[in-house]
Amino acid sequence: MTPPSSNRTASGTRRGLATEAVRAGHRQSVDDQHSEALVLTSSYLFDDSHDAAEKFAQRRPGNVYVRFTNPTVRAFEERVARLEGAESAVATASGMAAFLAVSLGLLRGGDHVLLAEGVFGTTTRLYAHYLDRFGVMTTVVPVTDPAAWARAMRAQTRMLVVESPTNPVMAVADIRYLAELAHAAGALLLVDNTLCTPVFQQPIVFGADLVLHSAGKYIDGQGRCGGGVVAGRAGLISELHGVLRTAGPSLSPFNAWIFLKSLETLPVRMRAHDANTAVVAAWLADQPDVRAVHYTGSADHPQRELVAAQQSGHGGVISFELYGGQQASWSFVDRLELVSNTTNIGDTKSMITHPASTTHGRLTPAQRDSAGVTDGLLRLSVGLEDVEDIVADLARAFAATRPAGARAR
Ligand SMILES: *Cc1c(COP(=O)(O)O)cnc(C)c1O
Repeated sequence: MTPPSSNRTASGTRRGLATEAVRAGHRQSVDDQHSEALVLTSSYLFDDSHDAAEKFAQRRPGNVYVRFTNPTVRAFEERVARLEGAESAVATASGMAAFLAVSLGLLRGGDHVLLAEGVFGTTTRLYAHYLDRFGVMTTVVPVTDPAAWARAMRAQTRMLVVESPTNPVMAVADIRYLAELAHAAGALLLVDNTLCTPVFQQPIVFGADLVLHSAGKYIDGQGRCGGGVVAGRAGLISELHGVLRTAGPSLSPFNAWIFLKSLETLPVRMRAHDANTAVVAAWLADQPDVRAVHYTGSADHPQRELVAAQQSGHGGVISFELYGGQQASWSFVDRLELVSNTTNIGDTKSMITHPASTTHGRLTPAQRDSAGVTDGLLRLSVGLEDVEDIVADLARAFAATRPAGARAR
């Protein structure tokens, strides 16, 4: 179990985010290694039978078995907790396993969940399809309409689940408002912070109870491993640890080690993604083939005041809509040479996706429509290549897609 963390050192100095990203959770081992160790072991030796009994009963802290205790995983959990300003964190096998652990740990049949419209497609499916079978009721609410959230609350509402900004259309949830709404009804607010990361947004500061990440996105940042993590108050997180111990969707120590090393460069990488993305978004907004660009950094983002209050940056995910629907989008994607056609986000490599036929393909046309996922929409995760090369690739693909005779502005 992760001990409560604080942003203060032994001498009481407050540390900055970049320092925590590099240092938090580090434990000195008997071998004095400076870089965090990858501890690959399924079980642990006990001092004696009494020690084993005490550790099994959780009366004494210590390692028991890899499904629920591992030093490398614990170091990763502690680092994420510090970065999010949370007391504690728990790591899981994937982002969806994190949602599953939250649901098994904190919901029961008869509970009601409010889910933001336009969240990750699989998240919607988990609640609306699977949890529904166990009597957990879900209402999908437009993320940008505060009054709709207030109206959707019921006596049984136990949790509000949002992603901010939502992907792909970059709608922003008012975290402070939703936290107050939830707390007034004795419910919890969960914010999926995968896109902004704690570098650009710390939902707990605005009152969120739980912050969730798909760790394979920006936390890994190099498209290698799957994993998830949830941060929050120690009492809530220990319920989720109980789910891991009992049901087993735990994070592999190897993946935890990758993430731990990746977190050291998270602030640097996020600022570099942010800088490249600002250039790409501004360039796209100027293209005659583009009907709209969805980017929280746009001067004309419909919620720019809320964005400024909540986010200190915009990250690397944007989307844009082409005139010409699916045919134009597919033909544009198929002509890119540098940018990869793959459905992930948060890699050093730039990646493009046509959500309507992939990530959101299992939604009904009506669900896609209300989530803003049109046939002409493309999601772009801007990587860390030279930005001139990214723009040149997009320009080349636009030129190759245009009918003969048409010219770029
Ligand atoms: C990818 C993603 C998830 C799901 O995480 P997995 O690690 O793929 O299970 C959840 N939320 C967001 C915002 C994501 O991008």
